[in-house]
Amino acid sequence: MEEFNLLETVRKQICTCSLDLRLTPNVEALLKMPMRELHVSLPVRMDDGTIRAFQGFRIQYNNARGPTKGGIRFHPDETANTIRGLAAIMTWKCALHDLPLGGAKGGVVCNPKNMSPGELERLSRAYIQAICHHIGPGIDIPAPDVYTSETVMAWMLDEYAAITGRTEFGVITGKPISLGGSGGREDATARGGWIAIREAGRHLGLPIGSDTAEGLTVAVQGFGNVGFHAARLARELGKCTVVAVSDSRGGIHQPEGLDPADVLRHKQRTGSVVGYPGAAAVSNEELLQLPVDILIPAALENVITAANAHAIRARVLAEFANGPTTREAEEYLEQNGIHIIPDFLCNGGGVIVSYFEMVQNYNMDHWPIEEVYRRLDEKMINAYDRVHTFAATHGVPMRQAAYTLAVGRVVKAMERRGWV
Ligand code: GLU
Repeated sequence: MEEFNLLETVRKQICTCSLDLRLTPNVEALLKMPMRELHVSLPVRMDDGTIRAFQGFRIQYNNARGPTKGGIRFHPDETANTIRGLAAIMTWKCALHDLPLGGAKGGVVCNPKNMSPGELERLSRAYIQAICHHIGPGIDIPAPDVYTSETVMAWMLDEYAAITGRTEFGVITGKPISLGGSGGREDATARGGWIAIREAGRHLGLPIGSDTAEGLTVAVQGFGNVGFHAARLARELGKCTVVAVSDSRGGIHQPEGLDPADVLRHKQRTGSVVGYPGAAAVSNEELLQLPVDILIPAALENVITAANAHAIRARVLAEFANGPTTREAEEYLEQNGIHIIPDFLCNGGGVIVSYFEMVQNYNMDHWPIEEVYRRLDEKMINAYDRVHTFAATHGVPMRQAAYTLAVGRVVKAMERRGWV
């Protein structure tokens, strides 16, 4: 089988919307390449006294609409092409949600599960030392992503301050509240995703969030920050029943419904959701194939592929993860009438609240949480509505509609700057 390459997937999507947008070959070529890449080697002292070199990246894809923005991942399987693809997706995400930002992504090849807090702190600081002259409030603003947290953001902010001599809160988002973070950032991606699902439900006749929603079932793949809050808010906001969740070690299934907060306590005690009392064991693959109303991939890219698409039985596929569905799988799902809420529409809540965090930082301000929720709701509803209307009017899939709208906005900014 051909090796998965997220950048290639993104490039093919650009070709598709290039026809709709009538892009010239030069513009299309520009959109298919990252603007700037940093490849760094990070020497880190480990607890046993040895020095280990870690490989890191920061890829700034396109800054036509503003300084680039996007998370930093710590993952053993990180590759440059994945980061490139994710940086491109960030570009479309910020454009679709009408944020004055471009797109970027960073990553370090490492396994945080096998590292001590001290080693992780030294790695986080080494990463900032390596990229600090290429980030900043008007340049590129990192944030959390897979296996990075507000603690990591705090170390990075502190390292940046130590090097530059200035505590500039606006250099990084997803910070702890005591260090210029925003209320509501912690669960923003999941909250935004549930707003998108609620909007989809209005069109599909699914009573998300109403008292009759209890009969609606949800399965969540991934139980990190996004996955846990996705499961928690499935109950709190969606009023649905969470029948299955999983993490990298496996999954659990309970048709009567799971209590995500209790599952989290089990995971904190044992290291995994696996073995949760009273639930049946399922594999990650089996979880994806459960006959649920709403399926939420909330972990990594490339999990719904040509190999398993035929077995997906959900009514709504809400992509809380970035890039979980391959193009081949998507064709199949579309034919089967599965409603897809594409990643950069569905999971935009994270970067939307990151943007709110930046606005608060610029003004040395702190908004009440209700203000954050109100504005997040407004942004998500707006974007969902635009994509849905475009898809319906032009008779195209939701992802193609989202791409055409987002890429169109990026191209417009490139034109106004005189680049094309
Ligand atoms: N890592 C998140 C994403 O993929 C958030 C990025 C940010 O807040 O800048 O959307």
